Amino acid sequence: MLIAGNWKMHLTLDAATALAAAVADAVAPLHAHEAGVAVALCAPFPFLHAVAQAVAGSGVTVGAQDVSAHAEGAYTGETSAAMLVSVGCTYAIVGHSERRQYHGESDTLVADKAAAALANGLTPIVCVGETLDERRAEQVEAVVGRQLDAAARRLGDDLARAVIAYEPVWAIGTGETATPEQAQAVHAFLRYRLAEALGTGAADAVPLLYGGSMKPINAAELLAQPDVDGGLVGGASLDASSFAALIAAAVATSA
Ligand code: PEP
Repeated sequence: MLIAGNWKMHLTLDAATALAAAVADAVAPLHAHEAGVAVALCAPFPFLHAVAQAVAGSGVTVGAQDVSAHAEGAYTGETSAAMLVSVGCTYAIVGHSERRQYHGESDTLVADKAAAALANGLTPIVCVGETLDERRAEQVEAVVGRQLDAAARRLGDDLARAVIAYEPVWAIGTGETATPEQAQAVHAFLRYRLAEALGTGAADAVPLLYGGSMKPINAAELLAQPDVDGGLVGGASLDASSFAALIAAAVATSA
């Protein structure tokens, strides 16, 4: 299991390092690592180095919220995977719906970012998910299948080294959560598509996270679904006690 917090564009340096230290302290007594639950904090770029230092030795890992598709060069404003590794990152979120929506990121660009991450020792958390209109039009499998297939085509067998996050766009930051049954149905479909690309054994080993208004109150039920292997958590990750409660639910579920 993996529980990854996505802090989005929140906090300042002092608040970010204080939150990271508070998460590390709150998570310590849960023995998450021993229970097979990995924890990651995906912080804004300017805070990554300090956050990595604040959680050093705690078992909590650090991720970025995006990464360049390019390895190096004249790409003003971009941040490469190697740079992220050098400041202590383990993960990079790619293809979050906010980047697809507000920055016009295509399936191809997202797949290229995932490839750049893997080529430089970073694990991409590849986000897929449908909008409310697409769900109403019964396009869920078509949309998430298309998004996953783009990554599968680009990554080949390396897809087995990625994390996939199913984030229904209508559930992100809205307080509206997919029911455990809705989440499981899409996760089972993604697992099936992964198995087509990688074979069953490798597909079973790819962590499939759910994201979309996951909170301590609904986490246990979502995480208990057979194909839900963790969570990508926005709002509830900005409060150390809420985030720790979510991790406690993951530890209890994986016990
Ligand atoms: C997210 O941004 O990835 C997310 C799931 O946000 P929230 O938990 O706030 O819905």
